[in-house]
Amino acid sequence: MARAHNFNAGPAGLPLAALERAQRELLDFEGTGMSIMEHSHRGKSYEAVHNEAVSLTKELCGIPDGYDVLFLQGGASLQFAMVPMNFLPEGKTADYVITGGWSEKAYQEAGRLGKVRVAATTEQNKKYTRIPKQGEIQVDPAAAYVHITTNNTLFGTQWHYDPEVGNVPLIADMSSDIMWKPINVSKYSLIYAGAQKNIGPSGVVIVIVKKDFLATARKDIPVILRYGTHAENNSLYNTPPTFGIYLVRNVLAVTKEMGGLSAMEAHNRKKGDLLYSTIDSDPDFFRAPVEKESRSYMNIVFRLPTEELEKKFVSEAAKKQMIGLAGHRSTGGIRVSAYNAVSYESMEALTSFMREFRKTAPAA
Ligand SMILES: *Cc1c(COP(=O)(O)O)cnc(C)c1O
Repeated sequence: MARAHNFNAGPAGLPLAALERAQRELLDFEGTGMSIMEHSHRGKSYEAVHNEAVSLTKELCGIPDGYDVLFLQGGASLQFAMVPMNFLPEGKTADYVITGGWSEKAYQEAGRLGKVRVAATTEQNKKYTRIPKQGEIQVDPAAAYVHITTNNTLFGTQWHYDPEVGNVPLIADMSSDIMWKPINVSKYSLIYAGAQKNIGPSGVVIVIVKKDFLATARKDIPVILRYGTHAENNSLYNTPPTFGIYLVRNVLAVTKEMGGLSAMEAHNRKKGDLLYSTIDSDPDFFRAPVEKESRSYMNIVFRLPTEELEKKFVSEAAKKQMIGLAGHRSTGGIRVSAYNAVSYESMEALTSFMREFRKTAPAA
């Protein structure tokens, strides 16, 4: 079997060992004569998997006491609405730092529900090529919360510091870089992430929320949309996406076996450094639009001299089983998504293809 070099932006590749475990357990989960999908979400077998997914999250992320870990549905996109529904009361304003397409969407959704304000934006001619510096972020000390997007999946930028926001609760969309390295959870009041980039399949969203903050949430919204409902019921208020959570458990178990998040960071930096050094070694041919200090290790974007060459690059790479390299439809160019599950060998294959392609391409 030849596994593809999967550079998809999301849903993305999963660790082979996590998939193989699912394959082994698919028809007969731990001698029960049925798959985990066919078990009751209230039964012992599923309960153990569910609680292991929660405890692995706590352990890997070093989550201090006083936080709840939730597994929800509706994608990160539902979080764009749930955050303001729960935490933006009338008469208050929420601050958003806008660094790309997803933070724009989060800001717009919150604006449909309450008053919002831009605390910083790095938009320039509809493009985002950097993360703001601390000094550029103007937080309203009376804001209900500040929202950031830690990795910008479309534009290939990533925060390399946790912003200081005083006493205002900090909320982060970490969909495309959660667990890429150790997380400073205590800086955040709420973290959310769709699983389908770094930690599992689509259909599961992980939420890490501070209990004190949760206690301030509005109660005058539908029960299903209250974080409190899910916290009080260990994410079992209604039927959770059991198979998705099972797969998250498998991925997190592999992540732990590989040495946890410090090992993940070393692995991701090694891959990213190899790719960026290949790009930088030939700046006349490979153009990286993102400012160096803001470069993402999860989504690495670059341009070739012409769009024709970019198309050719993507199609020739696909012939070599390198998949998912076309930039987002709104930005164009090349985008290499190098999430946790992408191996160093895949990155070596890609960078040697890049050097090869460069040699045979017409002069720029
Ligand atoms: C992919 C992504 C989303 C959207 O996730 P859905 O699960 O499709 O709703 C939101 N934010 C970021 C940063 C993303 O990368």
